[in-house]
Amino acid sequence: MKIAVLPGDGIGPEIVAEAVKVLKALGPTFDLEEAPVGGAAYDLSGHPLPPATLELAKSADAILFGAVGDWKYDTLARELRPEQAILGLRKHLALFANFRPAICYPELTAASSLKPEIVGGLDILIVRELNGDIYFGQPRGIRTSEHALFKGAREGFDTMHYSEPEVIRIGKVAFEAARKRSKKVCSVDKANVLETSQLWRDVMTKLAADYPDVELSHMYVDNAAMQLVKAPKAFDVVVTGNLFGDILSDEAAMLTGSIGMLPSASLDKNNKGLYEPSHGSAPDIAGKGIANPLATILSAAMMLRYSLGMTGEANRIEKAVQTVLQQGLRTADIYTEGTQRVSTVQMGDAVVAALA
Ligand code: NAD
Repeated sequence: MKIAVLPGDGIGPEIVAEAVKVLKALGPTFDLEEAPVGGAAYDLSGHPLPPATLELAKSADAILFGAVGDWKYDTLARELRPEQAILGLRKHLALFANFRPAICYPELTAASSLKPEIVGGLDILIVRELNGDIYFGQPRGIRTSEHALFKGAREGFDTMHYSEPEVIRIGKVAFEAARKRSKKVCSVDKANVLETSQLWRDVMTKLAADYPDVELSHMYVDNAAMQLVKAPKAFDVVVTGNLFGDILSDEAAMLTGSIGMLPSASLDKNNKGLYEPSHGSAPDIAGKGIANPLATILSAAMMLRYSLGMTGEANRIEKAVQTVLQQGLRTADIYTEGTQRVSTVQMGDAVVAALA
């Protein structure tokens, strides 16, 4: 099995090295091939997603990605910025389904801003559509307004749309995921205002007939934002479009209080996927050896489960992560009094030790 390893920028190389260490310790032999991406690739070749990196990603069974970005690239033209690499990979590999679990480990409940009884034991999955919606809709741009009140002023505009097959495609992914969990899907939209959302809701309702074992509910996005803070454990799988998913998945991540703990997966229709931590490249702590590698290690576990069909090995990694938390080991971002502060490398070593 070939895994493309794309460490990227900032803390990317540090955290990916720990995930690779864990993969190597598992037993099965993986063909791990590394390539530059993001700012690191721009520095080497003048492009954040060089053709050789894209080819490697296309030919691999799965992609393990660190993070891209650094403030020093902020003045580059948009198409040359490191973040374009991740958008390019999503587009070229048709990665349309983004899985963002939000899990609050009992040992880390204190890190959340919510009360322990509200967030303790939280385990929800946000399934976000990645390829469509207002982020890619045409036309878009900045033009001169024809509006009666603002005629002649500059105005920005974007287009929101979803076709029926796009909604069915992401809906199926969510229903299938729910089948492996508590069999509940909440579809989030803004059907009281938006035509796109009305179609989304109609299609989801129709699709639910194919999954009689899964309970479907609908919620407006503003209410979903409130319920995530009020009673997050009432959710199981949440499915939503690109824009709403972008916001809600970050909100859900923050409920757990520890961005360094949260993995993510972006899958195509054949379950080939790109796996990365939910956080960015954290340039503020890069090179200090203090980044939390657990989100990346857990992303590797998701990769084994969803793309490589190695559920047993995925479970082993997740259990090892729980073990190190129970042992009281903490990187700086999740450290609390009475626990033991460890470095990035020490955390990776502890997970490897716990695998045994
Ligand atoms: P960020 O997620 O990189 O960092 C936010 C805060 O969380 C920082 O204080 C950082 O130190 C901390 N943090 C993040 N990951 C951590 C970890 N594993 N361990 C300990 N602490 C951690 O977000 P940002 O600062 O807004 O963005 C920095 C750069 O990352 C920007 O260039 C941005 O564009 C990029 N970014 C990339 C991705 C991606 O590669 N998919 C995603 C988001 C942001």
